[in-house]
Amino acid sequence: VDEDERLRRETIAAWRGVWVFVEQTEGEPARVSWELMGAGAELAKSLGTELCALVIGENVEHLCRESFAYGAARAYLVDQPVFRHYRTEAYLEVCCSLIGKYKPEIVLMGATGMGRDLAGAVATRVKTGLTADCTGLDVDDRRNLRQTRPAFGGNIMATIMCDRFRPQMATVRPHVMQMPERKDGATGEIIRETCDIREADILTKVLEIIREKKGGVDIAGAEFIVSGGRGMMAKENFGMLQELADELGGVVGASRSAVDAGWMPHERQVGQTGKTVRPKIYIACGISGAIQHLVGMQDSDMVIAINRDKEAPIFQVATYGIVGDLFRVVPALTSQLRQL
Ligand code: FAD
Repeated sequence: VDEDERLRRETIAAWRGVWVFVEQTEGEPARVSWELMGAGAELAKSLGTELCALVIGENVEHLCRESFAYGAARAYLVDQPVFRHYRTEAYLEVCCSLIGKYKPEIVLMGATGMGRDLAGAVATRVKTGLTADCTGLDVDDRRNLRQTRPAFGGNIMATIMCDRFRPQMATVRPHVMQMPERKDGATGEIIRETCDIREADILTKVLEIIREKKGGVDIAGAEFIVSGGRGMMAKENFGMLQELADELGGVVGASRSAVDAGWMPHERQVGQTGKTVRPKIYIACGISGAIQHLVGMQDSDMVIAINRDKEAPIFQVATYGIVGDLFRVVPALTSQLRQL
């Protein structure tokens, strides 16, 4: 072992444990935190270390118990009025001080508004790397976290590692990782910490929380999705997809081309710059299957592709492929389903 490697091993040896930041708003946990527990448990197992939850807020002790149910062995809890609302300065302070004290090997956060903001700030302060929007995580035999994510506009999948800096930090979008099984009654150790940050030290004040009206359709949580692409030709033709989706009890999604054309709102977009979905069945109609689209839907349980071009890349991820004109295939499928 050369001197360089010896030094590296010495540096990283002080860092142990996989931490998942449990995101919450007014005590309500973000589902992505539990999804990350599933991924974190695998990493902890491979590294022979513990999965831990990092719970910050006010009156949030219940989230420690919840995190045990999702596989954490230990929860670091910071429960103080000053952390009632998420504010970067406050959360940054407490995260960095706990990371300094306990030295986790890996820190995972959801790629949400909060997680993206906090992870970037923390990584900068503790002088480590951060890989945003990972689609895959595993470890190699040098205890390095292999962080996979699309790069160069999604044209390649990059594997990124943070060889000599700790902790290794990554964010992962909601719905990318599978939700782990919940084990009610599982217990763990709660480690209570306090942070001496004062309200007066924080410049940001939360005056009011106005919740977004949830009138729209949640494609990210849907079990059946019928998506349309440029092959749909016009906005009116999406009615045909809606009919099929209605038969399945599902929702209509879209490729970016269809969204850019103004045929569907952005909230329906599937892919790298849209939503990541994991339905039971994903039906892609007139979608070519560009990598930026695939990263958002390739983990669906079943993919059915309808495309008149038999070479279309979407067929590479399809469970069933129908080479044909969608204007004939889709109504035929709908009418068959109606007869069931
Ligand atoms: P096309 O690629 O034009 O494919 C249309 C398909 O329809 C063709 O395969 C054609 O054979 C088929 N077709 C046409 N008529 C019929 C018919 N009558 N019957 C059957 N099949 C028919 N894209 C996304 O979807 N989501 C993203 O989040 C996203 N993010 C991106 C981010 C970046 C940084 C970049 C650079 C690109 C991104 N894109 C994204 C765009 C992506 O690269 C593709 O351009 C886009 O997905 C193509 O959409 P499409 O498949 O609908 O259209």
